Amino acid sequence: MTSPARNPHPNEPWTVLRILRWTSGYLAGRGVDSPRLDAEVLLADLLGLTRVQLYLNFDRPLIQEELAAYRERVKRRARREPAAYIIGKKEFYSLEFEIGPGVLVPRPETELLVDRALEFARLHYAGDDEILAADLGTGSGALAVSLAANNPAIRVRAVDISPEVLKIARRNARRLGVDDRVEFFEGDLLTPLFGQVFHLIVANLPYVPKPAFADMAPEVRDYEPHLALDGGADGLDLIRRAVAGAPEVLTGGGALFLEIWPDHGPGVRELARQNGFAETTIVKDLAGLDRVAILTGLRQASA
Ligand code: GLN
Repeated sequence: MTSPARNPHPNEPWTVLRILRWTSGYLAGRGVDSPRLDAEVLLADLLGLTRVQLYLNFDRPLIQEELAAYRERVKRRARREPAAYIIGKKEFYSLEFEIGPGVLVPRPETELLVDRALEFARLHYAGDDEILAADLGTGSGALAVSLAANNPAIRVRAVDISPEVLKIARRNARRLGVDDRVEFFEGDLLTPLFGQVFHLIVANLPYVPKPAFADMAPEVRDYEPHLALDGGADGLDLIRRAVAGAPEVLTGGGALFLEIWPDHGPGVRELARQNGFAETTIVKDLAGLDRVAILTGLRQASA
């Protein structure tokens, strides 16, 4: 395939539209499953435009430096590096998050967890001055920051075991204007939070079962942090510990929101029951897969 650096039709300049068409075909041939979208995301960011503005500039020719820089980006994407790492950011819950190596790229299906947690806060704690939330394994801070940004009563304590990741999460909270209500702690799951009480806990913990790694897309398997994905032999190592510890730090009416691997619904339901949660609601994502487990109905510690 001819690379855009060597223009096969020298009389036709590489315009935005032409380069997008070429790149979509090229990325499709490399197995990228959203080639046109990614071609647009990489170019819009490079030119400092939104994707809509890109559409209004289809005839704009690219200068040599822009072409060279774009070509570098396309090469990386063709090697299946996620676009979010190439441009260093990803939109989640209509907010723009900085993303870097070591941070899981926030997924659209995780927005479902935020929807449900915000709804729970609205239904159960309306009028409360302060709703206390914990976020376990915060990564980029996507859950913590989007909860705080969408309900001014919510205060979040967010935990991650990786100090590198926490630097990015802190920057996200600051840039998105919620650093007065989101605090970050380095540590393992609930460990830094014992002794405190929360109305809700959210967690998108590593839950991929070890044997499933072989079948994962190269974007995930080869570029995303295994620390944020690997849930051990059956995928439930961290979720098991979180469900066991949560009753100690949740109020009686509180809830634990977990993102889950689609096969884990029954397993999580059983874990919940064993640890004193009377009710588990499993919510499906847009693909029809079990994606979020909501654990409620904690029996109050017997008096
Ligand atoms: N949803 C991610 C994936 O399947 C996994 C995220 C996680 O382990 N929490 O790629």
